[in-house]
Amino acid sequence: MDGLPILEESGLSYASRNRQINFEGEEVPVMHACGHDMHMTTLVGTAKMLMDNRDSWSGSVMLVGQPAEEIINGAKAMLEDGLYQRFGVPDYAIGLHVSSGAPSGLVTVREGIVQSSSDSVDIKVRGIGGHGAYPHQTIDPIYVSSQLVIALQGIISRQINPLSPAVITVGSFQGGSKHNIISNEVDLQLTVRTDSEKTRDEVLGRIRETAANIGRLNGLPDDLLPVVRMGFESTPTNINNSDAVRKVLPVWEEQFGYDSLLTSQRPGMGAEDFAYFTQTEHKVPGVFFSVGGTPPQLMREIAAGRTNAPPHHSASFRIDPNSVKAGVEAMYTAAVELLNNP
Ligand SMILES: [Zn+2]
Repeated sequence: MDGLPILEESGLSYASRNRQINFEGEEVPVMHACGHDMHMTTLVGTAKMLMDNRDSWSGSVMLVGQPAEEIINGAKAMLEDGLYQRFGVPDYAIGLHVSSGAPSGLVTVREGIVQSSSDSVDIKVRGIGGHGAYPHQTIDPIYVSSQLVIALQGIISRQINPLSPAVITVGSFQGGSKHNIISNEVDLQLTVRTDSEKTRDEVLGRIRETAANIGRLNGLPDDLLPVVRMGFESTPTNINNSDAVRKVLPVWEEQFGYDSLLTSQRPGMGAEDFAYFTQTEHKVPGVFFSVGGTPPQLMREIAAGRTNAPPHHSASFRIDPNSVKAGVEAMYTAAVELLNNP
């Protein structure tokens, strides 16, 4: 479930050797390079703990194995499929993600914003192609796109309140076929991250305007202005409910013995479609937490500056299987606490 098209080079005895057919019909190597195998194992373990201790809690538990977190569409698809209509709207939602680079088993949680919103945006920049030696007879989409890439960063730096974080990354810029040919079109792929719905709407709206205006600036007629596509891969900001976090925190502190599990640090503007279970129409209070996945020996080497933790989505990604235990314990105790003391 939720593997990535990467040839695993972790060196582990149980490294993936599987291959699968992707959406485009190509055969690709697949591996769990983000830890969704750990997440699903934790879910099964939590189910077992709940059933083994059936007399210590009352209520109903819904275990959700959402199928497509990587493309941030799995939670949305389940809700559209009537998850909450068919099984009821839960009083709370709990979720976790394993984290490479944090000590194995270390459970951390924060109040408020946990992850940013994410929107994939496709822009098709059209031009009028021709000979590379006669640019004046063409409208060069590579030149238009280059201006657009620069102008997009102006949205972040000049148009959005600097106190509201936002990111636009142009992750793909594809166009042209040969040195001396001015092509007809360029395809850009963007990811957009924000921390609030207001900023999100603003940035997405500005992207549409900027694309059209850069097209006009270059003399493109209205029927050849850039085509902007959005809304096909997106998730709102993932926000933890502070009351729910404060209910769970003392139980975890007692169980794991840390002074504080609250972390104020966010490493960047990662996204998580768990937000659909909590932020959309039903407003279910959520607790989304992180479980460290890097073994102690490797953490010591990292601390000594000798190596780095293999990052998520890399071929060498590997997670300490012991992190499953902490994940199950945290998930189980949080569930029991919220079931018994809602
Ligand atoms: Zn991932």
